[in-house]
Amino acid sequence: MAKTNRLARRAFGAVVVGAGLLASSVSFAQDLGNAGPIPDAMWAKMQGVSWHSDLPCPARDDLALLNVPYNGFDGLPREGQLIVATSVADEVLAIMADLKTSGFRIGLMRPVHEFLGDDGRSMAANNTSAFNCRFVGGTSRLSQHARGLAIDINPVQNPYVKGGYTSPDAGDAFDSSAERKATDAPGLVRAGDAVVSAFKARGWGWGGDWSSSKDYQHFSKNGN
Ligand SMILES: [Zn+2]
Repeated sequence: MAKTNRLARRAFGAVVVGAGLLASSVSFAQDLGNAGPIPDAMWAKMQGVSWHSDLPCPARDDLALLNVPYNGFDGLPREGQLIVATSVADEVLAIMADLKTSGFRIGLMRPVHEFLGDDGRSMAANNTSAFNCRFVGGTSRLSQHARGLAIDINPVQNPYVKGGYTSPDAGDAFDSSAERKATDAPGLVRAGDAVVSAFKARGWGWGGDWSSSKDYQHFSKNGN
């Protein structure tokens, strides 16, 4: 266990050094944020909330805490936190840096244990989040969020829509293609925009491309 932790720290160190080199060699380089192991206090808060010993959740060393620079809805720079799989930590930092450079705005970015691990509460707060060891809503199938391989962006402006059902409730204003075309509200994700392009450039899929339902907030490494 201790040996694994030391290895994980060394690997994370390389990510941060890489970002530092980029910043010093390219004058317009953005702050990429950073990735590191999940601190003890946070790991303790996740237990039984967003991480469950009775589910096949990832090992602690397979998860990374990212400190992520982003633009708030007021246009001001902010820093949020995402928990993702260690295997995608550096590419998620690069994706989020692309979003910030594009001027895209994000409402809030906090780990879901701060919302009791409840996706409904997190979405209602318009929270952008990633890891949550939970089932796909209404099923007993583990979500890609449970592997730290999916990210939901601004759930209110980018709701989940299936038939007449929209989640979260506040997403009602943004759940038809006519409404999504007509609005200039910040934080919307649309086909072909900078957000979709940033994810697709790294091989991630978008829930807005699904046919039987639309999950406009959802991006995942395997497209599910
Ligand atoms: Zn999702």
